[in-house]
Amino acid sequence: MRRNRRVKIVATLGPASNNEETMRRLFHAGADVFRVNMSHATYEGLREAHGIVRKLEIEASRPIGILVDLQGPKLRIGKFDSGAIRLTEGDILSFVRREAIGGLGRVQLPHPEIFEAVKQGHTLLIDDGKFRLRVVEASDVRIDAEVMTSGVLGSRKGISLPDTVLPLRALTDKDRADVDFALSLGVSWIALSFVQRAEDVAEAKKLARGRANVMAKIEKPSALGDLKNIIEIADGIMVARGDLGVELPVEKVPGFQKQIIRAARNAGKPVVIATQMLESMIYSPAPTRAEVSDVATAVFEGADAVMLSAESAVGKYPVAAVETMDSVAIEVERDPLYETIIHAQRIDPQATGADAISAAARTIAETLNLAAIVCYTASGATALRAARERPSQPIIALTPIPTTGRKLALVWGQHCVLTDDPSDLDDMVVKACRIADREGFAKPGDSVIISAGVPLGKSGATNMLRIAVVGEDSFEGV
Ligand code: PGA
Ligand code: MN
Repeated sequence: MRRNRRVKIVATLGPASNNEETMRRLFHAGADVFRVNMSHATYEGLREAHGIVRKLEIEASRPIGILVDLQGPKLRIGKFDSGAIRLTEGDILSFVRREAIGGLGRVQLPHPEIFEAVKQGHTLLIDDGKFRLRVVEASDVRIDAEVMTSGVLGSRKGISLPDTVLPLRALTDKDRADVDFALSLGVSWIALSFVQRAEDVAEAKKLARGRANVMAKIEKPSALGDLKNIIEIADGIMVARGDLGVELPVEKVPGFQKQIIRAARNAGKPVVIATQMLESMIYSPAPTRAEVSDVATAVFEGADAVMLSAESAVGKYPVAAVETMDSVAIEVERDPLYETIIHAQRIDPQATGADAISAAARTIAETLNLAAIVCYTASGATALRAARERPSQPIIALTPIPTTGRKLALVWGQHCVLTDDPSDLDDMVVKACRIADREGFAKPGDSVIISAGVPLGKSGATNMLRIAVVGEDSFEGV
């Protein structure tokens, strides 16, 4: 079973889709990774979704990724005695640290960290950015802010502080418990929300200890300031355009999207474009032209994956949304301009064996018009370097380790197959050719290029390339 595209699709699960039948349809429509949002999901729900994904994997003989997205430190204002208050431009709203029920002109802010970090002139955004306020005076116990936008503000709305680096821990107690539970199931990817600095990612990596990959969601301006270090330490990046568009003027999001994709591609780390890609399909069976163009842009830019959120979690047309992404991606990747655009950003290999081999594999595959690049990989690191080249040929990653396959499910161009390590060099060639044939990438007479590390079965650097003709060797006994 193969996909006819290189970019991957992440589908978020929710009430509209978290059942076996719909998940099977989503997978066949093109979902490569299922995302579970821990802001909403229960442990029972996660356990169930995990079990279904494992079942689908066996049915399809293909590793499928699960991305557990942590809620992170979501900040909220307190309650109003009447449930809501009216704010008028020019008013002063006071945020108080001590416990109190809010009223006209005053509300509790139950987060002491904010009082320690906020400064005069900083911006406060409430309710997904619907309300903008500017801090005129800040003390340890009280923040006075001038209202810039009028409207009715309800209790317990979310608040964000785009200018303020908050002394918040990267992972809340809930996040830590959620990570433990996700790891106990054997989940392959964990996403960290509201990352502010590289140390946040380091903390999560320490918890995961290599059992799962850690994705850093870029949704705060402070993360953009530390982007290089965050990408270096994270295993993957998400352009979380929802919150990013709240904390930054929305018109800045497209430029940052390009910048983040380039930086992640440069580092060879997978990058996911998320939020509102096909938003209108929550209610409508067909996307808008603008949404199709948005998905296409991400594909042209060489993102590793495009993501559906509410469209597949709570929308009326979850399967149609995946089908739409799938067909847009296939068409874009067929476009005569695609190769030129995606390769315009090709980056030179770094001075390592894995990069030199990956670059050579691509050049040989392209020069000889080979059917595929077959890549023996244990941790997935070599496959990632092969994907960094964004070759024109499909990459078939062969690994004996299921977790590696599930991690690679999110990565551009990877078709991963679980198989035992080859016993010797002949077996390596025969296995690679047989799998390329069986999975629909090559037919007898076609050639593939194989990269591996010798001696086989020992984890270590990739150090060899071999061109092989499919059908040349006897497949008997394999
Ligand atoms: P969320 O993250 O869906 O967890 O908020 C994505 C985003 O902010 O875009
Ligand atoms: Mn978010």
